[in-house]
Amino acid sequence: PSGAVPAGPAAPVLDGYAHVYSGKVRDLYAPLDDAGAPRDDLLLLVASDRISAFDFVLDTPVPDKGEVLTRMSLWWFEQLADLVPNHVVSTDVPDAVRGRAVLVRRLEMLPVECVARAYLTGGGLREYRADGTVSGLTLPEGLTDGSRFPEPLFTPSTKAPEGQHDEPMSYAEVEAAVGPSLAARARDLTTRILARGNEIAQARGIIVADTKVEFGVEADELVLADEVLTPDSSRFWPADQWEPGHPQPSFDKEFVREWLLSRASGWDKASGEAPPSLPDDVLERTRAKYVEAYERLTGETFRPRGADR
Ligand code: ATP
Ligand code: MG
Repeated sequence: PSGAVPAGPAAPVLDGYAHVYSGKVRDLYAPLDDAGAPRDDLLLLVASDRISAFDFVLDTPVPDKGEVLTRMSLWWFEQLADLVPNHVVSTDVPDAVRGRAVLVRRLEMLPVECVARAYLTGGGLREYRADGTVSGLTLPEGLTDGSRFPEPLFTPSTKAPEGQHDEPMSYAEVEAAVGPSLAARARDLTTRILARGNEIAQARGIIVADTKVEFGVEADELVLADEVLTPDSSRFWPADQWEPGHPQPSFDKEFVREWLLSRASGWDKASGEAPPSLPDDVLERTRAKYVEAYERLTGETFRPRGADR
């Protein structure tokens, strides 16, 4: 877990579940057993509509975001099922969170954020510019912001404690933390998940530049947990606008970032103050982007199933 105290609506109270944790975007619950005690083998992951930008959780939620991303993750788990088992148990969840919650097996999590990069940008680009390496791997000269790697690279990082930033981990550090066998398996699966993700997404107009996955361990085998290949865990770029040499437009947060940095917002990023609320048209256009990503990927029309809307 990392990040700030969530702003916006608090985690809903759910009958029959105990609230255990809230991250920046998701609320976690343990189902209660017959004696009213929290079970330790299951978790309910509830995706809120909260959105973060520039490391702040904004106080205006994006309608349907939690449901869109939950359904996108579920769709990806199925696409990847022949590659890796996953933690999903059921989508039969309380009405108040229907559509945006998943009941999962509660696993012992690998203490590593398993990141793979198919394109150079962000933290990878900073390291490359400083040292000519990404995650310690020496790369050819002449790469630029948005360059594609011949093969996805495994660039793991720590799961930083709350409020701190994740730090890059060398492969040797991953081996020391989880043992050589699980480290090799994590590296192999993470890069394959991104490669498979791009095979599918790029045929539908979306580049997945990089992604973060989390694995649980069960009987010495890795199980894909958390969320997978969503715009919250990955960089999605519109494929038709890809042009190395400058920052690429982000598929989902383009309007949010653009508006926050514009005069209209009245916000000074350098001030360190929390950004203002987003206007309705920015929220609506952002919602439309999440829905578009879901519909392009899955080929299905998004119809909200959630209650209370
Ligand atoms: P943030 O995203 O705000 O930086 P976070 O990742 O802790 O912090 P969330 O993504 O909102 O917050 O919460 C998901 C949490 O649930 C993560 O800590 C993740 O490791 C954990 N998790 C996901 N799937 C499982 C699972 N099957 N078993 C146990 N823990 C899980
Ligand atoms: Mg998370």
